[in-house]
Amino acid sequence: MVKLNINDVDCFYGSVKVLENIVFSVEGGEFVGILGPNGSGKTTLLKTIGRILKPQIGTILLDDIDVYIMKAMEVAKNIAVVPQDTSVAFDFTALDLVLMGRNPHIGFFETENEKDIAISKKSMELTNIWNLADRNVSELSGGEKQRVIIARALAQDPKVMLLDEPTSHLDINYQIEMMDLLKELCKKEGLIILAVFHDFNLAARYCDSAILLSKGKIASIGSLDAVLNKENLQKIFHVNAIVKQHPLTSSLYVVPLSTSKPETVRPKNLTVHVVCGGGTGVSLIRTLSKHNYRLTTGVLNVLDSDYDVVSTLGIPVVSEAPFSEITEESHRANLNKIDNAKAVVLSNTPFGYGNLKNLEAVIASLEKGVTTIVVDKTPIQERDFTGGKAQALYMELKDKGAIFVKNCDHVLSILDTLESKIGK
Ligand code: ADP
Repeated sequence: MVKLNINDVDCFYGSVKVLENIVFSVEGGEFVGILGPNGSGKTTLLKTIGRILKPQIGTILLDDIDVYIMKAMEVAKNIAVVPQDTSVAFDFTALDLVLMGRNPHIGFFETENEKDIAISKKSMELTNIWNLADRNVSELSGGEKQRVIIARALAQDPKVMLLDEPTSHLDINYQIEMMDLLKELCKKEGLIILAVFHDFNLAARYCDSAILLSKGKIASIGSLDAVLNKENLQKIFHVNAIVKQHPLTSSLYVVPLSTSKPETVRPKNLTVHVVCGGGTGVSLIRTLSKHNYRLTTGVLNVLDSDYDVVSTLGIPVVSEAPFSEITEESHRANLNKIDNAKAVVLSNTPFGYGNLKNLEAVIASLEKGVTTIVVDKTPIQERDFTGGKAQALYMELKDKGAIFVKNCDHVLSILDTLESKIGK
């Protein structure tokens, strides 16, 4: 089985170091995604492995042989590179271009034989472009050209394929087709595939492992779960994202929510505690968070959709086990958070016996003189599943001076006024 070892590689452009301390190994049959922000060194890493840019320090070993010692033709028989830029300078037919993939296998005084043509044809059939064989490459669409270049790489019959954003020009249908094909070749033929991806979801679906680069160094390496976690997305890409396992494909999927450049955010002085549940806090929390209020929240059951949002945004939350009643301990922790808040907002949440303590906590805040805002969209009778207990507590809220509003905008305007008065 083919082996690729990257040993302590440092790479420079002129005097600028762009790769540092790169160490990893891959074996045949592994599909590895290379991820990282723009300029993190992904293309440079592929160039270094593909014998295009010699590292100043370290070695690239293909089956224990340094690729920079191997003859160029020998490397070309083993390593195929599919670059990002698929422009073709001369007028070639698609078949001519794919046949060029056979060059390393053809002797200096020989021309391509039937076997070379058969392999090229097969590569073109696999990539669904045999019908384009006689077409001039310069006339093809970006997606068609990309498939021709991938077919040329396949015709090379390599042991290692290096692909720089292999599907960037392909529509969703061809993306899946191409990735399925590459994955199949990787497994059946024992190929090593290293591919740069910008699309996390595509990477998560097809790669066995991933390497995350940041500023020329490996920031994380390993399984997709380990590499594509919320912390890394936040730290390296500055995005808040939901990362979950898809129930159907069981691959991870990533939904970026917002960019988060901490240095540009100036939080407000007011701390607001939000009491919500059952998804009734989602837009409220988003709005307040967008307006840079310091938020806390609780008590929320883990798995509640409100919990998802607050944990994604990194908002401190008092949590309870899924589907469990609020314990005395969580209730106390919630009251503690309320003590540190200048305002409490209760969302339009339904009440059962499990979360009734949240309503008691809101009353406690009111009794301490904390500004308490209640979003009251749906009549409480329709969301009281406690046989009237919640309604009674709601009456208490009204009597004790909670501010009842109908929507988030109203909450925001009250908080903005409060911020201008006491937030300073
Ligand atoms: P990525 O593929 O992750 O976007 P690259 O490997 O293309 O990153 O680039 C890594 C760093 O090297 C960047 O800072 C980029 O500006 C620099 N760089 C890339 N190519 C060259 C070059 N030919 N000459 C000088 N610097 C380069």
